[in-house]
Amino acid sequence: MIDLATLTIEKAHASMQAGEFTARELVEAYLARIKEKNDTINAYLEVYDDVLSQADAADQRFKDGTATLLTGIPIALKDNILVSGKRVSCASKILDGYVGTYTATVVTKLLSEGAVLLGRTNMDEFAMGSSTETSAFGVTKNPHDLSRVAGGSSGGAVAAVAMGGALAALGSDTGGSVRQPASFCGVVGMKPTYGAISRSGLIAMGSSLDQIGPITKTVRDAEILFSALSFHDPMDSTSLPDDMRTVAHTETRKIGVPRDIMSGEGMDAAVFANFKLSLAKLEKAGYVVVPVDLPLMQYSLAVYYVLMPAETSTNLARFDGIRFGYSVPGKTPDEAFAKTRGQGFGKEVRRRIMLGAYVLSHGYYDAYYNKAIAVRRMIEKEFATVFETVDAIATPTSPFPAFKIGEKASDPLAMYLSDIFTVPANIAGIPAISIPAGKTNDGLPLDFQLMTAHACEHTLFKIASLFESLT
Ligand code: GLN
Repeated sequence: MIDLATLTIEKAHASMQAGEFTARELVEAYLARIKEKNDTINAYLEVYDDVLSQADAADQRFKDGTATLLTGIPIALKDNILVSGKRVSCASKILDGYVGTYTATVVTKLLSEGAVLLGRTNMDEFAMGSSTETSAFGVTKNPHDLSRVAGGSSGGAVAAVAMGGALAALGSDTGGSVRQPASFCGVVGMKPTYGAISRSGLIAMGSSLDQIGPITKTVRDAEILFSALSFHDPMDSTSLPDDMRTVAHTETRKIGVPRDIMSGEGMDAAVFANFKLSLAKLEKAGYVVVPVDLPLMQYSLAVYYVLMPAETSTNLARFDGIRFGYSVPGKTPDEAFAKTRGQGFGKEVRRRIMLGAYVLSHGYYDAYYNKAIAVRRMIEKEFATVFETVDAIATPTSPFPAFKIGEKASDPLAMYLSDIFTVPANIAGIPAISIPAGKTNDGLPLDFQLMTAHACEHTLFKIASLFESLT
């Protein structure tokens, strides 16, 4: 029996290398778990039909001596990452029947390493949401409590890992969509520096914010995936050049906490108590916790909910019923266009397209869009200045633990507030990680978020690993 609960990438690799089990046996164990759990959890929208042949090819590489650390490692994909010849839907009706015409750079890399792609996982429609409730294919349930959401938008990818249905997964994080569900489901979720991992083949939401990020059980596994997937890609014009991928950081042994959150205001009591406990652990390990002034951080959410819809409304203009998926005929092209988009997109996506079109419209462009861009630059600077004095900034990932299914579904503002601690890292383009950090009395996972300076993933992983090892 393979113990899926404690398996990591390195352990799985060592066991396959030593012949303790084959890639096929490993994948079969995951397929059995998916079969057992997926009907209830709804993490996967599709399990690929070639999983076993992928595993056999991986086994061949172990025999040939060409296996790498990722060979035979079963990985799930969020349903907005393209694989040539495979269905992709962004959990939306509008991509009905759509099949990928090329393969995302991250997937090409995983395939070249011999990783096994298990399938595509549920998400909020076009990655818009924090609960996977906006999916056109039903909500994903939290494996820790079936009456609660798994978080979002990468809820399916995270639940797949948390239920033992994948060793790791790739999600996308525009405003917290890797970290927040990871926090709800008790796994590790990481958002890299903007431009670190190629976005080629990731269906765009907010292009200046989107990053693909690893979802794993351990910090080390996240680091392994980040290292494998972080390289310059000419197919992504925002991909960082080689000489900008790592920036040196002079260690201070200080962890900053934004002064504004030190009172615990706006946080669930259990989250705040746990956050203080997490900081105390780092203090015991030799770090000094200091308050830092980030007075503009509080505007991140407002900036995000102007820039993201603006970019979304532009990016989603291509779904016109002609080139992709779902299509409703009309007497005129305009009518067909309106019907296709009106029926093909769900409510939240339509809300954001309208918001985005509004902030970009003549007369409002300067007041909203340009103002948000200006504030964004100031927030970036504010973070950069603080990182001259601390190694990392700590906050909770989410202000509350996993909420009940339906609890916030009819209140978009309450839902948007769940991004309060995750969005700043996207606005500033800096790396951030959510690490499991205990549980509530009801057994719901709690988290701890760390952010470091631009291209300082080395420091992020170092402190996150240390934190993970502290009991
Ligand atoms: N919850 C945020 C939103 O709804 C983040 C989404 C994301 O990161 N894709 O926009």
